[in-house]
Amino acid sequence: SRYVFDFSDGNKDLKDLLGGKGANLAEMTRMGLPVPPGFTITTDACREYLHTGTLPSGLLREVEDHLRLVEARLGKRLGDIHEPLLLSVRSGGPFSMPGMMETILDIGLNDTTVLALAARSGDERFAWDSYRRLIQMFGRTVYGVPAELFEAGPGDTAALRDLVATYQKVFAEYTGRDFPQSPREQLYGAITAVFQSWNADRAVLYRRQERIPHDLGTAVNVQAMVFGNRGPRSGSGVAFTRDPATGRRGAYGDYLPDAQGEDVVAGIRNTLTLADLSRIDPASHVKLLSIMEKLEQRFRDLCDIEFTIEDGDLWMLQTRVGKRTPAAAFVIAAQLVDEGTITLDEAISRVTGDQLAHLMFPAFDLDAAPEPLTTAVAASPGAASGAIVFDSTAATAADGPVILVRHETNPDDLPGMIAAQGILTSRGGKTSHAAVVARGMGKTCVCGAEQAVVDPVAETLTVGTTVLHAGDVISIDGTTGHVYAGAVPVRSSSVVRFFEGELSPLGDPLLAAVQRLMTHAGHVARLAVHANADTAADARRARRFGATGIGLCRTEHMFLGPRRELVEHLILGDHESALAELLPLQRDDFTALLREMDGLPVTIRLIDPPLHEFLPSLEDLTARVAAAQAVGRDPGLDGLLLAAVRRMHEQNPMLGLRGVRLGLVVPGLFAMQVRAVAEAAAARVAAGGDPRPEIMVPLVGTVQELDVVRAEALEVLSRVEGAPPIPIGTMIEVPRAALTAGDIAHAADFFSFGTNDLTQMTWGFSRDDVEGAFFGRYLDLGVFTVSPFESLDTTGVGELVRTAVERGRATRPDLPTGVCGEHGGDPASIHFFHDVGLDYVSCSPYRIPIARLEAGRAAV
Ligand code: PEP
Ligand code: MG
Repeated sequence: SRYVFDFSDGNKDLKDLLGGKGANLAEMTRMGLPVPPGFTITTDACREYLHTGTLPSGLLREVEDHLRLVEARLGKRLGDIHEPLLLSVRSGGPFSMPGMMETILDIGLNDTTVLALAARSGDERFAWDSYRRLIQMFGRTVYGVPAELFEAGPGDTAALRDLVATYQKVFAEYTGRDFPQSPREQLYGAITAVFQSWNADRAVLYRRQERIPHDLGTAVNVQAMVFGNRGPRSGSGVAFTRDPATGRRGAYGDYLPDAQGEDVVAGIRNTLTLADLSRIDPASHVKLLSIMEKLEQRFRDLCDIEFTIEDGDLWMLQTRVGKRTPAAAFVIAAQLVDEGTITLDEAISRVTGDQLAHLMFPAFDLDAAPEPLTTAVAASPGAASGAIVFDSTAATAADGPVILVRHETNPDDLPGMIAAQGILTSRGGKTSHAAVVARGMGKTCVCGAEQAVVDPVAETLTVGTTVLHAGDVISIDGTTGHVYAGAVPVRSSSVVRFFEGELSPLGDPLLAAVQRLMTHAGHVARLAVHANADTAADARRARRFGATGIGLCRTEHMFLGPRRELVEHLILGDHESALAELLPLQRDDFTALLREMDGLPVTIRLIDPPLHEFLPSLEDLTARVAAAQAVGRDPGLDGLLLAAVRRMHEQNPMLGLRGVRLGLVVPGLFAMQVRAVAEAAAARVAAGGDPRPEIMVPLVGTVQELDVVRAEALEVLSRVEGAPPIPIGTMIEVPRAALTAGDIAHAADFFSFGTNDLTQMTWGFSRDDVEGAFFGRYLDLGVFTVSPFESLDTTGVGELVRTAVERGRATRPDLPTGVCGEHGGDPASIHFFHDVGLDYVSCSPYRIPIARLEAGRAAV
């Protein structure tokens, strides 16, 4: 098979084979843009290497063939003592993993070619500086020489020549061999090291975090070097075709004169802007802008690019569809529609429910904030407060929220960045490692806080006269770049306030974009979105957020608080008086809900209390009774309760007297609720309203249970005058119900999947216990990549859903179906529910906008 592709052979659709970087270098080459010549070694070759431990046979011969093409094109040769070709070797997997794998530059330099480079470039200092960079990178990457052994910065030419000698000695001492003088040995070693870097700890961790599969492998890009570090007419930069933080139109970037690309990303020096570049080198600036426009047209999206200017010549080293903040994602998608580049259908597919969720997070209350300590680069939005930590170890060890404070970050800081609430750096711009990685993780980040002095040894953060220590609380605002001492109060997001009707989208590009995309999602969605709401306040919010019904009102929630006593009476067997007291309370509850949701369906679930959540605890009661008896006092009600609790105590309450079972055991309980619903509806009709209640029976496992409840309910309904027809349906949350859905549909006017219990009972995992007990281990082992309580297990639990829909509809073709478990608000699950043809999803009020967006995205 073929392992090597010249840049002129590939294109942007070959990412799996050539990696993102390689595919896009090929695309740019095909577009005729100035890309230094080179070739890409495929991910196939990497996978084979990782599998067998040796380079695939024939690979090096292909490399040699392609190398000759590059040499011919440039009139230079690898190792030539007059015209030496120098190469860069860079990783590039199918998904972007910024800085996680290896890069080696200046391959081809040795004690002889360094002299030729000096002579050809007329810049001896530059040649020796490049050589010491090679020894350093090669030593670290291929031989694992610790970076700190290569300390000491560059100086003048003589000093640099000495530094090369020193580095060669360090190399020889650490590795037991001389630094390889053979450029081919350098090249092959570099290729192998890049392959191996796929499995470096930090790369594995990053993939786990970003849910990137581990078996893809990386491609390797071998490319002729161009030099940004050849004096003031040279430099390197990173640019975006639009602002990746806000989406604002117009090129945006960082530029460093007399530097290589690595220096920009590492954030070692503070960068200039593209506006500065237009003064320093107007011709390159104009050319760059025109290339950026071409790239946007080709990729039909925001692109980010890396470029180098060598002695006035502009070269493109990388491009890709750029990462962006959630706000920028919405703004850019709407802009691209306005510009005629994409359709509205595409626009909603370019934003995600997770991004919208992010925009709904609270932000700092700026009115209540103190004067900021300092203001720096707003690199990744959000509001984060926490105790200061100065390294990754402290971040991962901490109990509470922490802010990781560093000069700059590098890939070794990844565990700390994951553990921290937010990241603050004193160096680097919006394209520094900290900024790029934080944005990718959706984590708050402020960087380049030049006025802050970070001393990781003394563990202090000093700004002016303020000295903060490890453990002191700071707050960082990734939207404004403000850094505050102490904790700052937070307020709700502008997007939430827009949904609440408190803010107008006029003149606000983000809110206007959100409105436009949400409206389109609503037009194309086939799934309706209902709310899980038990109170009038929740119902009101849900309706403002766009819910078109209540899919689940958990009536047991209405029995908490002061009404708990009535439930205790019920349990003690004092049914009639307790029910008589509960009836008017429930009627008022339902009336209020129906009023809020006038004209929309309100699904009221009959009581489903896991008894352990309602009864006083056995331990407490035992202690109270014992205490009373010890002083010779009559324990009174406690004594009676204790006896009842002992009698009703269950080893597995989640599998116990719940749902329909309770309704069949406690006489009059369900009848009271049904009557309350009907009377509330009748009252609403009398008041001129349009109530649409539905009654739902929980935890049904067999149609016989439902038959009994249904007969009793119909009888109660027939006795209430003035109520509209009220459908009676069932939840499908016991596996047996899903399997016998064809029978159950005879007695059910609708199905609603309770995927919380369905997941619990299908896996046999207690939904209350598992997360702490063993899910962490399961996630580490890859048994699943996400908790099945969070995102529907489509292959197992999902199969039961699919089966139940099919069998239910076979009995009753127009059977309405929905889902009201937590999965109703989870993006991936929503796409599944769309695919199996449910009519609606129901979720908590704050998830409603997310579900509406995802329901639209599932349909395009
Ligand atoms: C469910 O089981 O999915 C459900 C919605 O009911 P509850 O969470 O109240 O058990
Ligand atoms: Mg349930």
